[in-house]
Amino acid sequence: MPDPQSLGRDRQHIWHPFTPTRDAEEFPPLVIERARGIRLYDADGRAYFDTISSWWTNLHGHAHPVLLRAIKRQARRLDHVNFSGFTHRPALELFERLRERLPAGLSRGFFSDNGSTAVEAALKLAFQYFHNCGRPQKAGFAYLDGAYHGDTVGSLSVSGVDDFHELFQPLKFPALRLPAPWGAKATRITGNPVGLDCPEALWRSVETRLRAQADRLAAVIVEPLILCVGGMRPYPADFLRRLSALCRELDILVIYDEVATGFGRTGSFLALDQAGTVPDFLCLAKGLSGGILPLALTITSERIFEAFRGGPEKAFLHGHSYTANPIACAAGAASLRIFHRQKTLERLPAVAAILHDGIESLARLPGIADGRYLGMIGAVDLAHPDSGQPFPATARAGRRVYQASLAAGLVLRPLGDTIYWLLPLATRARDLREIMKRSQAVLADTLAGLAREFPAGGQAPRAPREV
Ligand SMILES: *Cc1c(COP(=O)(O)O)cnc(C)c1O
Repeated sequence: MPDPQSLGRDRQHIWHPFTPTRDAEEFPPLVIERARGIRLYDADGRAYFDTISSWWTNLHGHAHPVLLRAIKRQARRLDHVNFSGFTHRPALELFERLRERLPAGLSRGFFSDNGSTAVEAALKLAFQYFHNCGRPQKAGFAYLDGAYHGDTVGSLSVSGVDDFHELFQPLKFPALRLPAPWGAKATRITGNPVGLDCPEALWRSVETRLRAQADRLAAVIVEPLILCVGGMRPYPADFLRRLSALCRELDILVIYDEVATGFGRTGSFLALDQAGTVPDFLCLAKGLSGGILPLALTITSERIFEAFRGGPEKAFLHGHSYTANPIACAAGAASLRIFHRQKTLERLPAVAAILHDGIESLARLPGIADGRYLGMIGAVDLAHPDSGQPFPATARAGRRVYQASLAAGLVLRPLGDTIYWLLPLATRARDLREIMKRSQAVLADTLAGLAREFPAGGQAPRAPREV
């Protein structure tokens, strides 16, 4: 047992995110001692491939010298200062470097420190925009079924992943739920559907709902191209193009939550680059600092900013203590320098192709019900190898794969019975081949074990979601 002393202290005082306490007792957290490149090392020196980029944050690998240098230099010069009444060069440099990669219309940045706060700011800005414009009745929001926008009360009000958020229903503000762009959760997607047309009937039902509510809607919020927490479900870019045109016609603002999809994850710098659409608000976090410090941005247009010009009655009176922390901003600027110097995006397609081939071959295994991918993101759904039906909830198939993956030196965290890969952009071809080889062995072994333990029966209830 690695580092029993730390584990004892952890058990006594620490409360971990998304973790049932019974699981933590049966399967205590690993004590991670250090990280380098795409590997994490535990207290015994055992290595684990960081296959989920430390919760979708890491881009260039851990301990990247350029990021470390930027952080050290900035910490010595200016560690932190409030961002109201003061400004600083790291924030300006980060935003200017980012602007070079953003659509021209997105020119005004509001900083915060995590994905949920980036979403909260976008929601409040959209609400106040219509208030400031003298149309306070346009105060509501629409969101997609299966979408995830954060765990704070505002962001969960516009999230459609009921397994996490249903309990909090009484706390949510009412919002309009639109059908997911690729139909129900059980739909097989298989491969990369981004270039396909959006199903016509599906689109019509979205359009009908938005038209009926347009007078009362301030904004629609979406995760562009792929629902991430909702099962890594890519969908056609065509959906975003239609949504964009309709919202322009109906004067509904569009919020793209690229907290997960930003910074190359989908193969392009932003997911919106593949759709060719420009939202009114863009939310960035996770990878913004290179995945090394908490930092977020809500970016909008001059048109929106204009509606806030004036005195306190027009101002956006909102902010956080660590808004635009200079060290995090310096890391963010350095991360964008890495993108430029190392040609990170240009190098992606060759590596991503290995992931895509790997998913295609996993999808042929008995017990894999579907396999899909987009850029450096891949996912497979687990099913009973004999019946093709979902495992009973009690089997906790996803969790079993996770446990087996750690023993094999990689991190296959489940979303319910979906297993996913969300790889650092810095993943090298050789490492990725090794990751896919080990993944295949873990999946084959675990599925065979589960099949013996839970002989195929009738339709069983789905597993609860876990991350
Ligand atoms: C993770 C995530 C968030 C929330 O970000 P936090 O930093 O965890 O608060 C919001 N939206 C999307 C799409 C995410 O994946």
